[in-house]
Amino acid sequence: MSLTYITTCTLCNQRFNVPGFEDLLTTGMGQQQVGQIIQKLSEHIQQKHPKEFAESLIPGFQLSGLLRLKHFHTDDTTANQMSEWMRHQIHELTRTRTVPDQKIREQVNKLELPGSVEDKVCPLIMEMRDILEERGKFAPKQPGASATDDNGKPKPAGVVTM
Ligand SMILES: [Zn+2]
Repeated sequence: MSLTYITTCTLCNQRFNVPGFEDLLTTGMGQQQVGQIIQKLSEHIQQKHPKEFAESLIPGFQLSGLLRLKHFHTDDTTANQMSEWMRHQIHELTRTRTVPDQKIREQVNKLELPGSVEDKVCPLIMEMRDILEERGKFAPKQPGASATDDNGKPKPAGVVTM
């Protein structure tokens, strides 16, 4: 006997009785039922919350566009920057964890290092965090933010115009 859970829309508090997925996912027919449940919840958003539904489509289009465009190579730095920016934006939407500076300081403090060593270790770990989370100087640049190349000179015009 499967469990039933109450799934609540966080936008309007409408409640749905939904069978637990654990047992359903073990059979083909159950997996189809999971698909129908997701479809039904999706229809609720489409019908009752058109603004949120429209917003949900944009990252989907961006992701499918990215997955198609990754099969092309271009020397257009702006086009590459745009792809990287879109990938970063999607990544930001799905990130569930981050490590704040304070947490890093607390963890390093537990090591009971001499203060001068702690002062060097914290920034290094924060920089590693920034690399992994694409923060600060490690975040991709938004296209159009700069019209100069890496040497600060204006970018040359593209060779091939489409
Ligand atoms: Zn709702």
